[in-house]
Amino acid sequence: MSTSRRNTLSDQATMAHDIEQRILVLAPTSKDSQFTCKTLGENGIRCLVCENLASLTQEAERGAGAVILAEELLRASITELVDTIARQPPWSDLPVILIAHQGADSPATRSAARRLGNVILLERPTRLTALVNAARNALRARERQYQTRDLIVARELTARALQESEARFRTLVEQVKDYAIFMIDLDGRATSWNEGVRKVLGFEENEFLGVDVTETIFTPQDLEQGIPQAELQDAAITGTAGNDRWMRRRDGSRFWASGVTTALRDSQGVHIGYTKVMRDLTPSKQAEEALKQADRRKDEFLATLAHELRNPLAPLQNSLNILQLTAGEDATARHLCETMERQVTHLVRLVDDLLEVSRITRGKIELRKGMVELASIVRNAVETSQPLIDAAGLQLSVALPEEPLVLHGDPVRLAQILSNLLNNASKYTNPGGKIWLHARREGDQALISVRDTGIGISPEALARIFDMFMQVDQGTHRSQGGLGIGLTLVRSLVEMHGGAVTAHSEGSGRGSEFIVSLPLAAGEPRSESAPLEGGASLLRSRRILVVDDNIDSANSLGMLLRVLGGDVRVAHDGRTALQTIKDYSPNVVLLDLGMPGMDGLEVARRVRKRPEFQDVTLVALTGWGQEDDRRRSREAGFDHHLVKPADLAALQSLLVGLD
Ligand code: ADP
Repeated sequence: MSTSRRNTLSDQATMAHDIEQRILVLAPTSKDSQFTCKTLGENGIRCLVCENLASLTQEAERGAGAVILAEELLRASITELVDTIARQPPWSDLPVILIAHQGADSPATRSAARRLGNVILLERPTRLTALVNAARNALRARERQYQTRDLIVARELTARALQESEARFRTLVEQVKDYAIFMIDLDGRATSWNEGVRKVLGFEENEFLGVDVTETIFTPQDLEQGIPQAELQDAAITGTAGNDRWMRRRDGSRFWASGVTTALRDSQGVHIGYTKVMRDLTPSKQAEEALKQADRRKDEFLATLAHELRNPLAPLQNSLNILQLTAGEDATARHLCETMERQVTHLVRLVDDLLEVSRITRGKIELRKGMVELASIVRNAVETSQPLIDAAGLQLSVALPEEPLVLHGDPVRLAQILSNLLNNASKYTNPGGKIWLHARREGDQALISVRDTGIGISPEALARIFDMFMQVDQGTHRSQGGLGIGLTLVRSLVEMHGGAVTAHSEGSGRGSEFIVSLPLAAGEPRSESAPLEGGASLLRSRRILVVDDNIDSANSLGMLLRVLGGDVRVAHDGRTALQTIKDYSPNVVLLDLGMPGMDGLEVARRVRKRPEFQDVTLVALTGWGQEDDRRRSREAGFDHHLVKPADLAALQSLLVGLD
């Protein structure tokens, strides 16, 4: 604002103030008027001399603090002045000081005084001090009227501002399209509507107002469970209630609503209803569902893939075992066998990892927990990983505490955790490097550290190292093979044991350390069974029937068992198997479960129905090894359940143990 304009505004305010404070004077002669004005002026009271009643009335219209009027002038018509006074706003009551003759209470004076309203009567001869006092009192009273006026104006301004902002807010709410925003009363009936209600819920304003929202927009399932009332109660108690759920549009179609209900209270705090705000998030909900479904399908695919990959591995491993047992002293054959052994073992490990990870993601892994000593787990893990460590030209040093550290866990899985870490250390460390496996107790935890002098891990990669399929791009080291699920498995298995695993590295080229902490258990470790001795006479006197529709699988297992000294027959379907059991009376039947026609479970059921077959031991050989699968085979009459490709040692121990 320019200075001159500011000056004009403040000048105007001063002028208005002067007009409001002045006293309009009308005496019988202009000399009298001048005298009165002078006298009052000497006492700090500003006056304006008016020439006649008409000009006084005119000035009064503009504004005045009071009026001093001589009684004689009432003889003329005072209608205009009376009208002006009558038109005053309610806060205003203009004081009129009437100077009258002594004892002037003629009916005319009284009636005029009544018509003029707020009249102060001063009798002549008027003492100057009385006039000044009367003028001061009148101005003081007038000042209070001005204060009342200012208060009223301020209130009106506030009320108007509130009304305007409310109207603006209402317009805003009404025009919001993506959010249904409305109020409901205590009975759940809609009392307001906005554009969003049309878009989100499909109701026009006239259809919506008065509708019982709690009955209309919730799904029948939610209505049955009393969700709408529960939500309102929740909002009434806590102030707001909100959640995401499926809701119903006017046409009955469903949409995924994200909404909040807020209790509405009046200025006294009395609960008068609710406001509801809701948005249609169906597209993002659908996208989320689609992602989840895709993820589920991926998990299922991985599970099927891993299972299908197991089948061809079984005959391969069997054949390899036979070759190893029959290779004799032929150096080339031994070398080839070792190479194949390494590769098949690698393949089996990959497939096992895949299968495991798909089980973990589907929450289908089971721990067979017992009391185990950490030292025996470390021994097993080192035994598994030592060939890889040796092949990588690395040196491993193991340090365990004197005291036994007992864990409550699954020994196979615990060893798997450590051997995965040892395998990684050997995969990602250059020849000549070192690996340390150290364990110690810290409070009620066992801390196991696997550290290497390898290629290290960058800080960015460290943050994601345990994520599924995560592999750091390391050029040549990628050829080490792996699917990027080893560490995911490690973390899942550690967590299933109530522990935690962390990765540390100073950065690329500076080695890595993985620290596993596991809760210690109080108790005695389980004693381990003695390792099995191998030998060609191991299975002498065993009559074994192998049944598998995969001809390679059946034949190679048959050959392997023959090499171990067993008397073996092979069948490729359920019917032939039953006939062979009758003719051959085997001691044990190794029976594949998934076969076309009569499957393994059915064969087992039929065998168990015949009293003459009661002594035969039935062993299920299958790609499925979950508790559910084991229960099903047990119910069908199987004595044992082995997962393909069956580990030779496990198979031997089972067959030797049979009497
Ligand atoms: P994989 O070894 O099959 O690729 P993992 O889940 O076992 O999968 O490991 C994920 C990634 O973490 C590896 O690809 C590798 O880049 C990195 N990593 C794991 N262990 C080490 C280690 N000891 N030193 C350096 N990098 C490692």
